[in-house]
Amino acid sequence: MTEIFPHSIPNETGWIEVIAGCMFSGKTEELIRRLRRAKIAKQNVLVFKPKIDTRYSETEIVSHSDQSLPSILVTSHEEILELSKDAKVIGIDEVQFFSNEIIDVCNILANQGKRVIVAGLDQDYKGIPFEPVPQLLAIAEYITKTLAICVECGNPADRTQRKTASKERVIVGAADLYEARCRKCHYIPSEEYGE
Ligand code: ZN
Repeated sequence: MTEIFPHSIPNETGWIEVIAGCMFSGKTEELIRRLRRAKIAKQNVLVFKPKIDTRYSETEIVSHSDQSLPSILVTSHEEILELSKDAKVIGIDEVQFFSNEIIDVCNILANQGKRVIVAGLDQDYKGIPFEPVPQLLAIAEYITKTLAICVECGNPADRTQRKTASKERVIVGAADLYEARCRKCHYIPSEEYGE
């Protein structure tokens, strides 16, 4: 394994890594890359994703660039604790879809000496911090903010632009309703004007 610290093997301790960013910024791709390396190193790796996210595949995590890894669908944070006993490295994708109890779960797992890598949206479509990701960023040893490219101007983008007037915080499985935008080009769609 040539990769240097921090993404190597925990030695008598665990830790938390957070990969956070907007849609299309490569979060899942980066998560898959790290988990694959852990597998190559023959570590016991488990990957979870919340059941709400049914796009592409039920039993894999899949990035927008078509990288994939087998994953376990869970409906609650408790299942992750129950299933992770023998794992050394634990990946959680779309972590923003879990309740705030996932923060404790990540701490418990890391305290047990496991490497916990979570990926998720750090802002909703309005640019508001998306719990529990802000809290996870605060308690993590290592954080990576992934940036996309603004489809309007080509600048680095950290916001998710919704192209529909729906006020639901989450519209699952509808990637075509979103695009990456920078701070300058991002706006909150107005219901009145149906933008
Ligand atoms: Zn822009």
